[in-house]
Amino acid sequence: MFEIAVIGAGVAGLTCARKLQQAGRRVVVFDKSRGLGGRLATRRLADTHADHGVCYLQPKGTAFGKLIDELVNEQILRVWTRGIHRLSADGVLQPPEKFAPCYAAPSGATAIAKYLGQNLEIINGQAITAISSIGNRWQLDSTDNQWSAEQVVVALPPAQALAIAGRVTDTHCSERMSLVNFTTSITAIAVFPKNQQTAADQLTWQGIQGINHPVLGWISLDSSKQLEPLQPVLVVQSSAAFAAEYFDAPDLEMVGQRLLAGAAPFAMGLNSPEILQVHRWGYAFAQNPLPDLFLTAQAEAPIYFCGDWCGGNRVESAFLSGSTVAEKILDIHAVF
Ligand SMILES: Cc1cc2nc3c(=O)[nH]c(=O)nc-3n(C[C@H](O)[C@H](O)[C@H](O)COP(=O)(O)OP(=O)(O)OC[C@H]3O[C@@H](n4cnc5c(N)ncnc54)[C@H](O)[C@@H]3O)c2cc1C
Repeated sequence: MFEIAVIGAGVAGLTCARKLQQAGRRVVVFDKSRGLGGRLATRRLADTHADHGVCYLQPKGTAFGKLIDELVNEQILRVWTRGIHRLSADGVLQPPEKFAPCYAAPSGATAIAKYLGQNLEIINGQAITAISSIGNRWQLDSTDNQWSAEQVVVALPPAQALAIAGRVTDTHCSERMSLVNFTTSITAIAVFPKNQQTAADQLTWQGIQGINHPVLGWISLDSSKQLEPLQPVLVVQSSAAFAAEYFDAPDLEMVGQRLLAGAAPFAMGLNSPEILQVHRWGYAFAQNPLPDLFLTAQAEAPIYFCGDWCGGNRVESAFLSGSTVAEKILDIHAVF
């Protein structure tokens, strides 16, 4: 039997597990995917790679700022750009409004998750399908396995959490979780021929945020995060409205082409990608996050729920949420 099982190896789950393990607790982390990081995601593409989830990190509070400093010292993160351009609803590109360091990982955002997850016991490729309370322990089921734990932390978006733990969650807790809505998002990743790198070097922006743009939520010259980029890579993320319309479209290639066409006026000289891939995010951003940093429901033993949707909708809120659950389990008074 495990002492503490954490379900979900995104930033919230990894942060929670890491803190518990550092305090001497025996922790195991489960994730349904083969890798780590959840929405902190990097796609490997021939000779290059791209961050198709989290674009960059920008700390607001002290605790997350310390993690960023640690990751910079470990040479996992570096300042990628100091200003993000903006794209207005009517398609006008505007210079950055404010300047502050935006951090990114030259080898890909998943390097951050790998760092957080080092030395942790992680069981990958196991989607937990049900959590049951049996006496004073928890039983976790996957399709073909079963585990027991004294305490459980569920670090998933609320709909996914309720799907596996709804039966052991009290009404108040499940009602609050059901209130949180997530937007979807669609990402197009385009790798251009190496001989277009000179054109990429001449672009005057690294990242563009769509502000109420009907199609585009984000464009990055993602290869500019690398130390010595050899070929241009664009990442184009849809607006929530575009994703809502095209999420179930059968022709993903067409969806990717539409996103790329939207980005083309700002990426002069980047033509005819060698690779075009599309990724759909079913749970992208919490629209109405809860003010609480975590939720707990009391059965024979407590079960904890955390994630970015507790307190925000960014990596920093996932970090704070996971961290606060660990503090709660360790009975430490958290001050951020
Ligand atoms: C396209 C996009 C761009 C973004 N850009 C930024 C950005 O630039 N900056 C920023 O700060 N934030 C950004 N975000 C938001 C950021 O990604 C999230 O806030 C943060 O990563 C959430 O972390 P989490 O741990 O709460 O959840 P997740 O990352 O969703 O982690 C949940 C984990 O649980 C696993 N899982 C799910 N169900 C099960 C199950 N049944 N059993 C086992 N495992 C399961 C999943 O595989 C996943 O690994 C972006 C999000 C998207 C989608």
